[in-house]
Amino acid sequence: MNTKNSEKLYKKGCENLVGAVNSPVRAFASVGGNPLFIDKAKGAYIKDVDGNKYIDLVLSYGPMILGHRNKKVEKAVTKAIKKGTSFGASTNAEIKLAKIVCDAFPGMDKVRFVNSGTEAVLSAIRLARAHTGKDKIIKFSGCYHGHMDAMLVAAGSGLATLSLPGSKGVPAQSVENTLIAEYNNLESVKAHFDKHDDIAGVILEPVTGNMGVVQPTDDFIKGLRALTKEKNALLICDEVMTGFRSKFGGAQELVGVEADITCLGKVIGGGFPVGAYGARNEIMENVAPLGGMYQAGTLSGNPIAMAAGISTLTELKNQNPYEKFNTVAEKLEEVLLSSAKKYGVDLKVNRFGSMINPFFTNKEVTNFADAQTSDTDKFAKFFWAMIENGVFLPPSQFEAWFLSTTITIKELKKLEEAIDKSMLVVGSL
Ligand SMILES: *Cc1c(COP(=O)(O)O)cnc(C)c1O
Repeated sequence: MNTKNSEKLYKKGCENLVGAVNSPVRAFASVGGNPLFIDKAKGAYIKDVDGNKYIDLVLSYGPMILGHRNKKVEKAVTKAIKKGTSFGASTNAEIKLAKIVCDAFPGMDKVRFVNSGTEAVLSAIRLARAHTGKDKIIKFSGCYHGHMDAMLVAAGSGLATLSLPGSKGVPAQSVENTLIAEYNNLESVKAHFDKHDDIAGVILEPVTGNMGVVQPTDDFIKGLRALTKEKNALLICDEVMTGFRSKFGGAQELVGVEADITCLGKVIGGGFPVGAYGARNEIMENVAPLGGMYQAGTLSGNPIAMAAGISTLTELKNQNPYEKFNTVAEKLEEVLLSSAKKYGVDLKVNRFGSMINPFFTNKEVTNFADAQTSDTDKFAKFFWAMIENGVFLPPSQFEAWFLSTTITIKELKKLEEAIDKSMLVVGSL
């Protein structure tokens, strides 16, 4: 495979960019080798600067759920650009997207748009503190909630991939109000509540994507809801990744829970920088200008990004691809498991709607510790074999693969062949 131009750009990029990337998950650190540079993408496919074409299961880490360059989204965005790109004043587009989003979440009366998932989470945490008058937040190891100081402990894929326990540069005071619990372990949450009476909220990915895909057990998620209610703490569902990915709305509904505050991002921006946090009126009324919790953004609710979000969600609603996602993921699971068996590779597969990933381990994966039993060397081999066979995967064992609506029988067939060939490589290690 020829990656000459990518290599060239990587060298050049390293001069004025940090590691030639603007987000560390894009570096190929854990799989060995240098990142590919992308030229363009269309539908289910992405093409690098050397002309190699791949089926894209990264999809910008989730947002491109309709595949690349969806005609309706492209048209809506082009139309919006011609009306001006930013005003510093409200537009009808913000009202429209807010209505679509609030209608899709039972527990959401109002929403505030921001520019990223990180901003959504940091605002949601401030809101939980403002509403309860308490300071501490419980998070789960392996869940990622963006790169704000207080959330950069035991934070899943990005850090795990680079083998970092946390981040340098985070003052001890910034994390002293962060309590870490274990996913799918209600007792570990109870222990914190027994010890502390100033817990403002519990934040989690209602189905995780950032330690790989892990679903909550029924007892865990229902127990969390009951416990937070009893202790007057808020339940914050970080659906930046899961929002609109496995149903039109949130994963919280599928796992049978209703959050007090929901964080969104990724899909709702249709490939543009959008995040959001939303809740019932009584909670959102804490936010300025209605209340005393300050949170602002020069480019928040940007009209181009809103147009992309509206058209993406409208198209998703019309296509209603969620059943199809399940069928495709089920098929991929089958192929992953059967080829692993054929070549004697230990493998577990977790999936939820349009998110799926294999763990190279023989242990069921129900939390971060389980996920970390995976053989990352095997994943690295698998990753490069998939690249050779024309499939672009996230370069991390601990990251979900994403499906788009543009995957047809043809792509599915190619994926199956690539998986089988790549598993053979892993099996012959
Ligand atoms: C991606 C992600 C974030 C951070 O969003 P950014 O837009 O990258 O800041 C937060 N939470 C979850 C669950 C995510 O998957």
